[in-house]
Amino acid sequence: MFDPRAASSRSAPPPRGRVTRFAPSPTGWLHLGHAHSALFAARQATAVPGGRFLLRIEDIDTGRCRPEYDAGLREDLAWLGLTWEEPVRRQSDHLAEHAVALDHLRALGLLYPCFCTRKDIQAEIAASPSAPHGPDGPLYPGTCRALDPAERADRLAAGEPHALRLDMARAEAHADAGGSPALTWHDAGAGSQCARPSLFGDVVLARKDIPTSYHLAVTLDDAAQGVTLVTRGQDLFEATHVHRLLQALLDLPVPEYHHHGLLTDAAGRRLAKRDNARAVRTLREAGVPPADVRAMAGVPDA
Ligand code: GLU
Repeated sequence: MFDPRAASSRSAPPPRGRVTRFAPSPTGWLHLGHAHSALFAARQATAVPGGRFLLRIEDIDTGRCRPEYDAGLREDLAWLGLTWEEPVRRQSDHLAEHAVALDHLRALGLLYPCFCTRKDIQAEIAASPSAPHGPDGPLYPGTCRALDPAERADRLAAGEPHALRLDMARAEAHADAGGSPALTWHDAGAGSQCARPSLFGDVVLARKDIPTSYHLAVTLDDAAQGVTLVTRGQDLFEATHVHRLLQALLDLPVPEYHHHGLLTDAAGRRLAKRDNARAVRTLREAGVPPADVRAMAGVPDA
C-alpha cells in the first residue's frame, strides 16, 4: 500500500521556515534564465528566518541528460554564490518510490496502458479536426483508454512497449468523491486557483522509455523533500493543476507556489539552452564577475 507520509518522513525534517528548491534538468549549460530561477528560489528561502534552499537534479530524461551538464551546473551555481544542502537529490535514484505511487494509482483503477506511438497519436488527431488542445498542444485522443480489455491484456502479455496514462475523468471524479471541496492551490503572484487538471487530458505518468514522468516525479519529490514553496517559471503555471490533482490522489501535502516571470532577450524571446551566449559558463570565461551575472539574471545584489 502506498504510504506517502512514510516516504516523506524519511528525508523531510519538520518544516521550519520556507523550504524552496531549484530543480534543473542537466540537458544543457546553465543559462541566465536558470540563474534567475535559482537565485529567485534561494532568495525566497532566505527572505524569512529558518529557510532552507535545496537543489534537485531532474535527470529522468536519460536520452538528453549528461553528467557533464550536471557537474557544470553545480559549478556555475556555486560560482554565482549559491549554497545548498547536501546530499543533492537525484531524481533517477528514486524510481522505486515513483513505482509505489504508480501501483497505488493503478489499484484505484486510475491508470491505463497506452501503446500508441507519437505517429499513431498524430494520425488520430489529424483525423478529428476539432481535437481539443491543452497548454502542451493537442490532447491525447483516448485511443487506448477505449481498448477492449481482452486486447489490452493480450498486448500486455506480449510485452508490447507502453506508457501509463492517468484516466483524467476518473481521477477527477475520485478526487471529488465524498463531497470534499474543489481542489485549490495558491500562487503568490496570481492568488487562489481552482485546479483544472483536465486542461491536459490523460497525462502520461510513466513513459515508455522510463517508468516515471515529469508530472509524477516533480510532485513526489517536492513532497519527499518537504518543499513548502515551489518556485519555478511561469511556463509551468498550468502544470500545477495536474500536480494538485496528484497531491489529492496520493495524499501528499500541498505546498505554496510562486511562478516567476521568464527572462527574455532584447527581442522579447525566451532564453533557451541553445543560446550559448547567455550561458553562465560563457560569461564566466569572458571574465564577467558573478555580481554582474546576478544583475544580468535580473536578481541584483541587495
Ligand atoms: N526540471 C524542470 C526544468 O528544468 C523544472 C521543474 C520544476 O521546477 O517544477 O524545466
